[in-house]
Amino acid sequence: MLPTQTTAETELQKEKNMVSPSVVQNIVFNNADPNEPRSINLYFDHYKGEPIYRVVAYLNNSGCEWSVKTGGCTMCGTKNSRLGRKISDAEFSNQFALIRKYVTQFNAQLDVPVKSLHVYNDGFFFNDNEISPESREQIFAMATDLKMQKLVVETNGIDIVKDDRNNDYLGKAVKRLGETEFEITLGIESTNPLIRALYNKPDSFEDMQKSLDIIRSKGATLKGYVLVKGPMLTEAEAYADCVETIRNLECWSAGKRFRVEFQPVCHLPNTLHEYLMQLDHADPYFWEPPLLSTLFRILANFPEMGEDLYTALFARIDRDSPWDFWVNRPHDDPETTYKLYLKLVDHYLYRRHESVTSALEIAHEDLWLKRCERKIEQSLEERVAMVKKLLELSRKNRVHLSDYLKNNLANEGNFWERCSRHLDSLK
Ligand code: SF4
Repeated sequence: MLPTQTTAETELQKEKNMVSPSVVQNIVFNNADPNEPRSINLYFDHYKGEPIYRVVAYLNNSGCEWSVKTGGCTMCGTKNSRLGRKISDAEFSNQFALIRKYVTQFNAQLDVPVKSLHVYNDGFFFNDNEISPESREQIFAMATDLKMQKLVVETNGIDIVKDDRNNDYLGKAVKRLGETEFEITLGIESTNPLIRALYNKPDSFEDMQKSLDIIRSKGATLKGYVLVKGPMLTEAEAYADCVETIRNLECWSAGKRFRVEFQPVCHLPNTLHEYLMQLDHADPYFWEPPLLSTLFRILANFPEMGEDLYTALFARIDRDSPWDFWVNRPHDDPETTYKLYLKLVDHYLYRRHESVTSALEIAHEDLWLKRCERKIEQSLEERVAMVKKLLELSRKNRVHLSDYLKNNLANEGNFWERCSRHLDSLK
């Protein structure tokens, strides 16, 4: 407080500097033009104990190498937006110019400037085939020129381990960014090797685990994405896996800091879960998004994590968003869904554990209990073996796994029976 300020003036100042969810903006560009990002989004967040504004830019990109070479992870939708060819430094530079322009505009409109910049290239951030050192340097320059307190990028364990062996781009970037914190978000998804295999993750369990320490040892901040209910898991299995994953991360971190962002799975074209959504509801493999209240149930286990544990907001949702809008996203029943969503917004903004406990008071327990009755007979090992065989076939046929299933499975019987019959027919 300035010495001449009264308490009332300070309160007024605080109110004026309030971060409001109502300013959210989603600016969408031409998805086929490498000179424009796919979108630039003004969102809110929580950083060092207070609500802040952040900007998230999705770059038009060449595509994740894993996805291009193998079809990628079973639940990932980045294959739908990649341009499938290298993006030149000049093209990236044009994308960055637009990001700079919009951040400057947002800052001119807001009471408090944007503090955190997220730049996502839907792949491996330190892979020169996806984004060159020169373009990365432009991103770092953009973050420091725009006076960001934090720069956030996404990548994967395989990328971090390779970079550690070869170029140390990460270590150099931390030094280059100076006061600007560098947060690396890793697509961990799960610490269960079988569940990671079900998702077809590119990095080995060992590389994923090693990368956690590499990131911290180089002075960057570690954050892991944890997937909430990927394909071929029941709601109860997904819940247990998320809780166990966070406990494992806590144990491996041995008192050092780690952050977790839940990624609740939503409907996405050309994914395995898109195919599973079309199954009969009685089929054990029928997939539907997790309950919104399941996210709170997971969060409720970790009150001590404070601002370092939160769940991604999956879209901007308004009171009058039609029910159809929710069907492809985490939801409970029509009566409670929007109320729960507001609790999620509140938690995102303030990270108060009270948002979690009060959300669970609103949620209808019977929905959760009903979901918990769903069972899958086959073990995780059996499911992984099946997915591996199907992925191999889809790769041989050069089609997405979901298309392979659509084109080759007969309609009789449940999903497991259809897959087994199909594999038998190929013997
Ligand atoms: S989840 Fe990540 S590693 Fe997997 S295909 Fe998508 S972008 Fe690539």
